[in-house]
Amino acid sequence: MNIQAKLTLRFTVIVASILVLFSAVTYMFSASYRKEEFYDRLESRAVTTARLLVTVEEVDKDLLRIIERNSVPGLPLEEIVVFNKDNELDYSSVDVNEIKYPPELLQKIRQAKNIRLASGDFEQVGILYGEANKNEIVVIATAYDRYGRNKLRNLGTVLISGLIVGIGIIVLAGRLFARQALVPLAKMNEQVSKITAGSLEQRIDEGNKTDEIARLAMNFNKMLRRLETAFEMQKNFVSNASHELRTPLAVMRSQLQVALEKDRTTEEYHQVLSSLLEDTNSFTELTNGLLTLAQSGIDGQKLHFNSIRLDEVLFSSQEELAKQKPHYHFQFDYDNLPEDEESLTIQGNEQLLNTAFTNFMDNACKFSEEKTVYISLASKGKHIEISFRDKGAGIPPDELRKIFSPFYRAANAQHLVKGHGIGLSLCKRIIELHSGTISVNSKLKKGSTFKVVIPINTKNAL
Ligand code: ADP
Repeated sequence: MNIQAKLTLRFTVIVASILVLFSAVTYMFSASYRKEEFYDRLESRAVTTARLLVTVEEVDKDLLRIIERNSVPGLPLEEIVVFNKDNELDYSSVDVNEIKYPPELLQKIRQAKNIRLASGDFEQVGILYGEANKNEIVVIATAYDRYGRNKLRNLGTVLISGLIVGIGIIVLAGRLFARQALVPLAKMNEQVSKITAGSLEQRIDEGNKTDEIARLAMNFNKMLRRLETAFEMQKNFVSNASHELRTPLAVMRSQLQVALEKDRTTEEYHQVLSSLLEDTNSFTELTNGLLTLAQSGIDGQKLHFNSIRLDEVLFSSQEELAKQKPHYHFQFDYDNLPEDEESLTIQGNEQLLNTAFTNFMDNACKFSEEKTVYISLASKGKHIEISFRDKGAGIPPDELRKIFSPFYRAANAQHLVKGHGIGLSLCKRIIELHSGTISVNSKLKKGSTFKVVIPINTKNAL
């Protein structure tokens, strides 16, 4: 069942139920009012008859019968009977069959003094009148409420026909209402179906920008914008990556070609091979970085997170880097180290964090003349702060935001310092995977500080 049909059905059921309930209550109140009103009239007829018989001495039964038949407009099919204290029929307004008034009924009236009964379609009122053991009589008045019942029947017919017509109108109105409510959705559906991977620049109509459907459209457009950027980045990444991979390969090839052009001395071969080894190392570094970046981006969910101590990861990164680049210096600031080791424990991926920390340290040393990185680690309640400071060249302010993009190298780096520009984008991705943040503070010719904040209750951010 589509939403339009569902909405129509729900609308019809709700409004029709209210109508049915309202009609039923109206009918029930009218029926009860008719009954009570008719009983009151019957009772007043019974009391009048009793009063005339008991209190007015001049009125005897025959006279009373004449009075009732001629003067008072009686009730339809009215029957008034009076029984004396011995349960004998004393008076009846018309000829009646006494069997209809068994002694049990009379006894009940004497006990209750006033009762109201329904006998088939007839209403009946019985009252006890007069003084006990003297002139006490039982008066029973019975009649058929023709007018009241006709009115009630008419009301029933009006209500039922009203209901049938009303429900018809409700169904039509419901369909119209549902169709109108869904028009913007249908329009949106049509626009969305035209958007393909190749036309992500398209946007859907945001309508009045305030209602729920407009907000859905706005969110959808935001998602399209993000997708478009991601697609664009992906495209740039692939072309940058292939460029970065091709360049060292071309350099290595031309080195080999030149070397093979003629016979060389052992020293010359040694030189070429050393240069090739250096290029291969750089090439391996690049491919490893690209691989990690790709894995952390695509297979983020598959990464294993364990309990790890950040100080230990930091020391092992430093040891590793020191082995590779013995001319680097590492200055640890132990002042802010907490005594409680637990406060440095997070859920994380050791290998990835190792890669990130090594990269921050490597950059700090790489871009400073004194080849020194100042490292501090501090526990700040629910998160841990690690900073990597150097007294190097600094980063131009307008480039600070760009250095985290893949393959971006700031003016201070190009041609001067070796690298591929993927280290910081990799660091950013790794820290994000640990729900952390990176901030950078840099002054030209004074140095830079990269601050990493990682929450203790880290969950894999993907
Ligand atoms: P790479 O170091 O291979 O160039 P990164 O992604 O690690 O690539 O860094 C991107 C750029 O950010 C660097 O090229 C450099 O311009 C700048 N940068 C990063 N760290 C520092 C630093 N500590 N001091 C100065 N510049 C830096």
